[in-house]
Amino acid sequence: MRPDAPSYDVATVRAQFPALAQTVHGKRLAYLDSAATALKPQAVLNALATAYGRDMANVHRAVHELARRATEGYEAARARVARFLGVADASSVVFTRGTTEALNLVARGWATPRLREGDEILLGELEHHSNLVPWQMVAEATGARLVWVPVPVDGVVRAEDYLERLGARTKLVALTHVSNVLGTVLPVAEIARGARAVGAITVVDGAQAVPHVPVDMTALGCDFYAFGAHKLYGPTGIGVLWGRRERLDEIVPQQGGGEMISIVEREASRFKEVPHRLEAGTPHIAGALGLHAALDWYAGLDQAALHAHEARRLAEATVGVEALGGRVIGAAPGKVAALSFVMEGIHPHDLGTILDHEGVAIRGGHHCAEPLMDALDLEGTARASFGAYNDHEDVAALLRGLERARALFAPSP
Ligand code: PMP
Repeated sequence: MRPDAPSYDVATVRAQFPALAQTVHGKRLAYLDSAATALKPQAVLNALATAYGRDMANVHRAVHELARRATEGYEAARARVARFLGVADASSVVFTRGTTEALNLVARGWATPRLREGDEILLGELEHHSNLVPWQMVAEATGARLVWVPVPVDGVVRAEDYLERLGARTKLVALTHVSNVLGTVLPVAEIARGARAVGAITVVDGAQAVPHVPVDMTALGCDFYAFGAHKLYGPTGIGVLWGRRERLDEIVPQQGGGEMISIVEREASRFKEVPHRLEAGTPHIAGALGLHAALDWYAGLDQAALHAHEARRLAEATVGVEALGGRVIGAAPGKVAALSFVMEGIHPHDLGTILDHEGVAIRGGHHCAEPLMDALDLEGTARASFGAYNDHEDVAALLRGLERARALFAPSP
């Protein structure tokens, strides 16, 4: 197995994550669950401490100094997100609680008022429940039909799988940028181009993509893009809905209240422009500042070296798991950062428990993707996922733990 490459200083990266300093069950922590949520670097913890401990005030309201700082910080975070997404217009960035809330906002606020009986929503079997259940709810409310794109057993998703199902009735295509189970990177740009050609909009779930692949809204050509901060080394409870400005303007606000109105009269109110009309109430101010810090921290890593480092971890884990008799689920070329596998005769939850005793954190189950599990005829998988801080020793600990599990579950002679 190859050691860590000298071009990427993983030890320096690890030193910035206080959570990695602990032992778990007396063992060195091997955190291989970043696809569920990433650990947080000190820079993000510092930003949260400053937001709560020094610049604490509500935004967009008072004129006092702390309120000015809080408001400027909050809006600077919005501008930072816009830069991350490669867009010039910061008002096209709406803060939400996370990916799930962002997708639900599009479903409730954009799709439900627009779709009619006979319209079609195209979505893949591989989608996370967050980009699936909201569309079921739209279908239920409007009479629109869900059209499913099957997922091949090798986990390779081709643009044609989507393009051949597009038609005059298609109003919306919902797809993930990166699969949380298979690691497959979907050909979003090609699919979005096809969708546009038939007058459909494209909604992209970027939850798993943002920590691993470049995300540029112009290059992707989608209409909406949703992600949360917490898989990108940022805080929980804060996320983003980016939308083309004309699409965002079409969203019917789902929450009324403070912050989102310009004039309130007894019978009716007038709303502010986006993004504020979609951010009713006191937002997660500290979360936005934490996201800003996470984006700065992340941008400070050499992106090519980081991607190569994560690919190396994935490759060595893949080889190791297969050598131990594990079946790897998902073989898309260029897949990123998530290794799903099954070990014959060992339930993924048992694997998770055995590995936990070795200090190795992985995830076992259906990964909020039950239709995918159905399609692949699996009850669940074990999933090891990789982030900027995972080193060679983490993978070695995983493989040692799997060997132990295999020995424990070996049929007695
Ligand atoms: N989509 C995908 C592909 C995910 O992996 C997740 C997180 N498990 C989500 C959506 C939900 O994201 P959030 O926690 O930001 O709501």
